[in-house]
Amino acid sequence: MPGTILVTGGAGYIGSHTCVRLLERGFEVVVADDLSNSSAAAVDAIARLTGCQPSFEQVDLTDIEALGGVFERHAIEAVIHFAGLKAVGESVAEPLRYYRTNLLSTFNLLDLMARHEVFDLVFSSSATVYGDPEQLPIPEGAATGPTNPYGRTKLMIEDICRDVAAADPRWRISLLRYFNPVGAHPSGDLGEDPRGVPNNLVPFVMQVAVGRRDQLRVFGADWDTPDGSGVRDYIHVLDLAEGHLAALEHIDAGCDVFNLGTGVGASVFDVIKTTENVSGKAVSYEVVDRRPGDIATSLADPSKAIRDLEWRADRSLEVMLADAWRWQSRHPNGFDS
Ligand code: NAD
Ligand code: UDP
Repeated sequence: MPGTILVTGGAGYIGSHTCVRLLERGFEVVVADDLSNSSAAAVDAIARLTGCQPSFEQVDLTDIEALGGVFERHAIEAVIHFAGLKAVGESVAEPLRYYRTNLLSTFNLLDLMARHEVFDLVFSSSATVYGDPEQLPIPEGAATGPTNPYGRTKLMIEDICRDVAAADPRWRISLLRYFNPVGAHPSGDLGEDPRGVPNNLVPFVMQVAVGRRDQLRVFGADWDTPDGSGVRDYIHVLDLAEGHLAALEHIDAGCDVFNLGTGVGASVFDVIKTTENVSGKAVSYEVVDRRPGDIATSLADPSKAIRDLEWRADRSLEVMLADAWRWQSRHPNGFDS
């Protein structure tokens, strides 16, 4: 099975962990990333951790000439497409930039893949396509209805992939809807390094625990959940990375969609308490108003991936947060420290 995989966005958080697993499994890896939300130090860390050097191409996927060069220089056999913009709030403020970047990158990629007869694609979608879910846990067949431009780019790309696969039977596409990826490589030398103020809970909590920020704001304690705070399906980034290998290995003709989650929910207060336990640090917080657009609970039904991909996410919340803490405490300022 091993061959050469193009990993777009491979210097980013999920992409870098996936590169580690791909290289460990004997694949050749070509990373294409413009470093707009990541650091070349992540590529160095991948090489150090695996003893294998991925090829690195600093390209913007919206530039079809530049991306075309990558296909000319490497004998790509399959693509994992992580590259894109992902901040929900920013997408509300700058919708055109989100639609342009995420859609144009994907058009260019699909065009070049077809031109070079590369038909295997794994795409990073998101549980955000479900919007406020009508049923819990959420199966892949649930209604979709993203509530922000970022989520709509994901759903549009899913639809484009379905149409492309329907038009040409050579395509084999796997759409992966991630729930809430957290954690880091257990070495503590590869992890999530958000720029500016983190939007997501776990990076924020880690920065409070390490003393970089004073206090977490808990967005509502009056939700219809067991302790009143929001419940999410957190998944260890390495479980997620392994899900991509499983998707590649089980890829089938057409276009199929899979939830990647644990099926187990944790509340904001669970995350705070568990972080305090694994770090030995207090996490100061105050409860504030709900964040606009938030939902009470998001929880995957992962049974389709368990059955068809023979993959299961089994790392616990404690392991996720202990690994996140190791990364944060060894690198308080991310890759710059
Ligand atoms: P990330 O920002 O760390 O990684 C994305 C990478 O893509 C970055 O390295 C960035 O520099 C690169 N990139 C962005 N625009 C590019 C462009 N035009 N050309 C080339 N490279 C570009 O994000 P992540 O958390 O690793 O997410 C990876 C993918 O998974 C994204 O598509 C994201 O939407 C999706 N996803 C993430 C989450 C999450 O919570 N992290 C959840 C669901 C889905
Ligand atoms: N959350 C919070 N404070 C923060 C960030 C997030 O209370 O600073 C809550 C948020 O309301 C949600 C949960 O933590 O209930 C997970 O939020 P995140 O943004 O990480 O993921 P998403 O909401 O996109 O699933």
